[in-house]
Formats: sequence, structure tokens, C-alpha cells
Amino acid sequence: MKNFDQPHDMREWSRLQSASHFSIGFVPTMGALHDGHKRLIEVAQQDCDRVIVSIFVNALQFNNSQDYEKYPRLIDADIQICKEIGVDALYTPSHATVYPPGFETHITPGATAAPMEGVFREGHFGGVATVVNKLLNATLPDRAYFGTKDFQQLAVIKRMVIDFDLNVAVVPVATVRQPDGLALSSRNTRLTAQQRDVACVIYRGLEAARTAYLQGEQSSAELMSITKDIYGSCPEARVEYVEIFDSTTLCTLQNISKRNAVMAVAVWFGDIRLIDNIEFTA
Ligand code: AMP
Repeated sequence: MKNFDQPHDMREWSRLQSASHFSIGFVPTMGALHDGHKRLIEVAQQDCDRVIVSIFVNALQFNNSQDYEKYPRLIDADIQICKEIGVDALYTPSHATVYPPGFETHITPGATAAPMEGVFREGHFGGVATVVNKLLNATLPDRAYFGTKDFQQLAVIKRMVIDFDLNVAVVPVATVRQPDGLALSSRNTRLTAQQRDVACVIYRGLEAARTAYLQGEQSSAELMSITKDIYGSCPEARVEYVEIFDSTTLCTLQNISKRNAVMAVAVWFGDIRLIDNIEFTA
């Protein structure tokens, strides 16, 4: 496995692969790799001749400095995992490489970034869009893989790719979950045993809303209150938002009779914030 930490070295390797007519898949991550990341890599390997994984904990997208400092960093284990599963190239730039002194140019996403995460994590998607743009520029992939667990992030990236005429296909990959329904997340490692036990309530709340929808309930207010009641019954859980919105425009929906809708939630357990979502297909 190749390992690059400078954009021009990474780019040179990618150009050579493309010149040899190998297609390139790219999986951007912040490390602490788990089976969710591995699934993205596996899908990329099925689609593409070469797969690049990046590991970069992007300070620019953290609105909370404690969350940034406490974010799990397991680079040696991550390198081992990437080698074992046959990643072709790892891109691990330092903070100073991505944001050298004098760095001042930022991408500002629009309406897609405004609700939900945009309300509670100010500046988050600007940081995400800026770094993903830089990572795409360094890796020059044909396809880039993103998890639907971060549904709004995926929407912001898709929009940026259209708006900036970026030459990459954005490929969504379904959320990988623990057997009890908890979505895999690097932040799960910071949950106490007690919090981990009850954190499956997040998915239980989402599933209950989907079940009610499948049984005929179409009012967003009703569906959201079903989910909130379930979260209310878990003393460890503190709900930040529960929203139902159109899966393409991300506009909130009062009623989900005719459109593809998603319910997304953010829930705190102590000082750990977890997000998840579920799709209701019309
Ligand atoms: P992160 O390292 O958390 O920034 O995530 C890197 C990529 O992995 C993003 O595209 C995430 O959406 C995706 N991802 C994170 N958790 C999961 C999961 N449980 N299942 C599938 N993809 C995931």
C-alpha cells in the first residue's frame, strides 16, 4: 500500500493510474476506521480498479474544540486495517499541509447546509465542503464514496460537485449498523458501557416512525412525536433535533404522502453527539 502525505505526490500517483486506464475510487474518512468505513471501501473496490482512502481529522469542520480534541485518533490501527483489506493508497496529510499559513479561501454551501446540522453546528458544512474539495483535488478520483448516515453531508457534497463542475461521481453507501440498530460511528467508542447499551434507542425511534408511516400515518408532526416520545423514555438521551424533510431538496415536509422523505435526528449521550436517519420511500 502506498502512503502519501503531500497533495502533489498523491496527485502524481493518481495521474499515473489514470494514464494506465485504471479507474480510481476515493473514500474520505477521519479515521478510527470501523465496519461502516470498510463497507465504503468494499463498494469502491467492487466498482474501481484502484482505491484511495484518506484519513484527516478536519479541524475546520468541528464547531466544538473539545469534540475535535477528543475525536478518536488511531492511525496505526487504521493503516493496518487499510493494508489488510487491500487499499491501494492512503492519503494522510497533516493539518499544516491542508491548511498552510495564510490559508484563507473557504467554500460556503447554501440552502442544503442550512437546516438541521447547519443550525446546531455552525460552519460545519463549510469546513466539510472545503476539505472535500481539497481532497478531491489531491486524489483526482473517478468516483467518491460517502455514507448515507451523514445524509445532509452527502447532499452538500452532491450540490458542490454540480455547482463547481467537479469531474467525479458521488456514490452513496447505506449505513452499516450494529445488530441492535446503532449506526457505527467513530464517536461510539467514547460512549460509556451504560450509554452504549441504551444508544440503540436512536434507531428504535426512527424505526417506530417508519412503521407508523407504513401503517398509513403521513403527518410529519405525528411521526416526529412518535420518535420524540421514544427518546423521551430514555433518561440518558437528550434530543437536539428530529426533522422530516425531502430527500433531494432537504426542505421540511408537513406531510409525506407523495414525496420521498427522510427523518434525521441528532441525539446527545453525555457529551457525545450522535446522528442518524431513516428513509421513508413513497
Ligand atoms: P467519518 O470518518 O465519520 O468522517 O466518515 C467517513 C465516511 O464514512 C462518511 O462518508 C460517512 O458517512 C461514512 N460512514 C460513517 N459511518 C458509517 C456507517 N455506519 N455506515 C456507512 N458509512 C458510514
